[in-house]
Amino acid sequence: MIKKKKTRGQLIVLSGPSGVGKSTVIAELLGERKDIYFSVSFTTRSPRVGEADGVNYNFVSREEFERMISADELLEYAQYVGNYYGTSLKVIQDKLAAGIDVLLDIEVQGAAKVRSKCPEAVLIFIIPPSFEELSRRLHGRATDNEDVIAGRLQKAREEYRQIPNYDYLVVNDKVSTAAAEIISILTAEDCRTRNRLALVDGI
Ligand code: 5GP
Repeated sequence: MIKKKKTRGQLIVLSGPSGVGKSTVIAELLGERKDIYFSVSFTTRSPRVGEADGVNYNFVSREEFERMISADELLEYAQYVGNYYGTSLKVIQDKLAAGIDVLLDIEVQGAAKVRSKCPEAVLIFIIPPSFEELSRRLHGRATDNEDVIAGRLQKAREEYRQIPNYDYLVVNDKVSTAAAEIISILTAEDCRTRNRLALVDGI
């Protein structure tokens, strides 16, 4: 079959609790699917060690973020643990219009906004094999104290309540398996009739 270029890219939303290993799964996925554009969010939080401006996030001041909100420059934004996080509207629109798939790594409030603004987006939630395993992974980081870890676990419980609003649930037991499942989901989404009508002839 001759593969025609997609007329519009697929918007992919990935959410999951802190400590689930989302970044590792995303790195594996992007290694396999180099055609996917990873959206670099804007945030008011400070860079962590090893993070670079424009690579992990676009780090901006609260004033600049609030200006972007007023100017309607964000597809979605949310406050998370005292900081703003948001997705640039223009970058996403341009990529999707160019037929490029776009991946957003965002939390549950932002995902809900994307769902209402872009109903055709595919929403994927990643969980660990068990809550006990999540706790073990958070303790394994050794950078956070007990209070911070307890806060993250509480936040995870709240986030889990939103799982029914997602289209797909991926369990990150093994990174390569989780990434492979996401690739399968994206292949299935590409095969949706609405995304393939341009291939139909002979009518
Ligand atoms: P972190 O500070 O650990 O990098 O991210 C905290 C949370 O913010 C994660 O759940 C991450 O998915 C989410 N996040 C990152 N960028 C965005 C964004 O642009 N919008 C929203 N709503 N959440 C985001």
